[in-house]
Amino acid sequence: MSEVQQALTVVQIRNSWPTPLPEEYVLPRSRLYDLAPYEMGTLWCESLTGYINRLGWTHHVPPHALVAQEIVPRLDEHQRLATPVGVFGTKWAMSLNGAGVATKSWMKVLGYLTTRFDFYLLTLPSWVGDLSPRWQLRETPAWCPACLTDWQTMGHPLYQPLLWMIRIITICPRHKIPLINHCFHCQKPQLVFAPSKKRPGECTSCGQWLGKETNSDQDVSEELVSWQEWIWERLKELQAASLAAGVLTWEPFFRHLARYLQEQKGYSRLAQATGIDRTVLYRWVDPADAYSPALETILKFCYVCRVPHRQNRRLDRERCQLALHAALDDKNESPALSHVAQQLGYEDARQLMYHFPEECKLVAQRAKAYRQQRKAQRLAQVRENIQQVVCSLHTQGIYPSLHKVQAFLPRGLMKSPEAREAWHDALREQGYES
Ligand SMILES: [Zn+2]
Ligand SMILES: [Zn+2]
Repeated sequence: MSEVQQALTVVQIRNSWPTPLPEEYVLPRSRLYDLAPYEMGTLWCESLTGYINRLGWTHHVPPHALVAQEIVPRLDEHQRLATPVGVFGTKWAMSLNGAGVATKSWMKVLGYLTTRFDFYLLTLPSWVGDLSPRWQLRETPAWCPACLTDWQTMGHPLYQPLLWMIRIITICPRHKIPLINHCFHCQKPQLVFAPSKKRPGECTSCGQWLGKETNSDQDVSEELVSWQEWIWERLKELQAASLAAGVLTWEPFFRHLARYLQEQKGYSRLAQATGIDRTVLYRWVDPADAYSPALETILKFCYVCRVPHRQNRRLDRERCQLALHAALDDKNESPALSHVAQQLGYEDARQLMYHFPEECKLVAQRAKAYRQQRKAQRLAQVRENIQQVVCSLHTQGIYPSLHKVQAFLPRGLMKSPEAREAWHDALREQGYES
């Protein structure tokens, strides 16, 4: 299997970044603000479609109108005709975050409007190179409700990162909760381009707020977290390589894989290990076949190959057991199972769970209880702060309205149901409510 591991590391640089636009597109002053995209060069980088939305909001025009009045009329005739009439919410609009011809034309127009030429970095090829963009992007945008709420509370600008548009990423790397793709209130999916001046973070259909407090009780399995963390690390590597040198090409990966597969019984061995049908593997490496697997399939494949065969690797039982017991006895902290596994040199908890199911279950339960306890502590702190503010306003003879109380607390705090409840309780205590 090391051959396959090696193959992944030789995804090579195909060519340099697309060159800046021809001179005639560069204007001394831009028609629109040359907003800097958020988190450029990191995996939290803004998406191209998210940037277009923000460009609209910043100019106080609905992003729909910006697209219809400023962008589409400037596309060359062929691209204009190829743009669907209802471009705003469709899967087609989402594909602008990929690598198609339309993306190139839109970036050119945006370059003209803003005099910026780094929009390429807001699209998927800046992470995954020349892999076919088919199947990589979601049909409609997803989001992490806890990220939205956190950003609002911290006064951080709200935006739509590229990672929310990618199919393979299913949980938030920060909050470890599932990304959402339907509004909590009206159940509708979100349009790619917002139809009105609704603020970012509001549903494109009903206008309700799409954020939510972190809910660490949500059950996301340790296995899913490990898998997603692994993907996250690989994407980081791919992005770093792209940023350093240019568009990556996957041709060497398939070439090396083909060589491995030609070894005796290579196809059936790999098919067995990965669960991918051998006829599909034939298609992967056939240069005459235009078929290209999704990034998700390639990564799953590498993930499986990376895990050492159980019979090949002698597990150091004593060391693992000691580490698990130490985690259970730790007075100060309750480390997550994936953390214990990493400390032992495993990339995830699979092996540990296989060999020590009971201990692993206890470690995971303890970590969960710890997270819940932390959450309860945070809530208690919020209650106490609200009580103090209400009490102090009351003593000064000022009615502690929601607005007045909010003024003394972190922005957006009073939006959460828990804070409102605490506020009502404090009002009751002071005799304003019964
Ligand atoms: Zn999040
Ligand atoms: Zn809605």
